[in-house]
Amino acid sequence: MPLGTYQRKRRFGVTPEPRGKPPKRGRGKHLAYVIQKHRATALHYDFRLEWRGVMKSWAVPKGPSLNPAAKRLAMPTEDHPMEYNAFEGVIPEGEYGGGTVMIWDRGTWTPEVPDVDEALRRGELKFRLDGEKLRGSWVLVRMERKGDDARPPWLLIKHRDADAGKRDLAEEEPRSVVSGRLLVEIARDEGGNMERAADGDPPPLLRKMLANPKLITPARRAHKKSVWHSNRRVS
Ligand code: MN
Repeated sequence: MPLGTYQRKRRFGVTPEPRGKPPKRGRGKHLAYVIQKHRATALHYDFRLEWRGVMKSWAVPKGPSLNPAAKRLAMPTEDHPMEYNAFEGVIPEGEYGGGTVMIWDRGTWTPEVPDVDEALRRGELKFRLDGEKLRGSWVLVRMERKGDDARPPWLLIKHRDADAGKRDLAEEEPRSVVSGRLLVEIARDEGGNMERAADGDPPPLLRKMLANPKLITPARRAHKKSVWHSNRRVS
């Protein structure tokens, strides 16, 4: 059961996250890529790549860096269903991953290795991203296993190419690519904890918004089950 771990960790009567249908193979030639910024117990960026009908997932505490010299820790997490890519909203406090989730980037990815299964097994996956924020060539490398560490961390590293650079995208482009909202605005719209969500947003931008409320995204009416879907029209 490919999504067994994902489903065991969650109570679908309580959380608005999708249950996930059985994975389908070969849905098209483009593989999906998404990053969800997640203010849970600690802020992190969930980096997900479609493979064999599920989203292979890593939690990146500091988020991706465009600087090839920066190696960003990426902790492997359970495979997520494809439907999860459209999830932006609030997971109730006390539930697994409780907190605010934003779709920070999305697009497609292309393997830069001949055999992805083999690359995942060996722990060195090279790929190209075509997202709205992240582009170009990247690598995920698994670190050496230490002692009885069952799931060694990986590192997410930008390759040197035209898309590499010194810009801090987490700081400069902190908004959702589907709704334009900050974490605090998602929490406001979906009945989450705004104060907690806001500490995942850049403080200089929050200060500017307080000084000029026109910068605040207008409130949306909360939807059923407190979830906002990227494919739903907002009235
Ligand atoms: Mn997460």
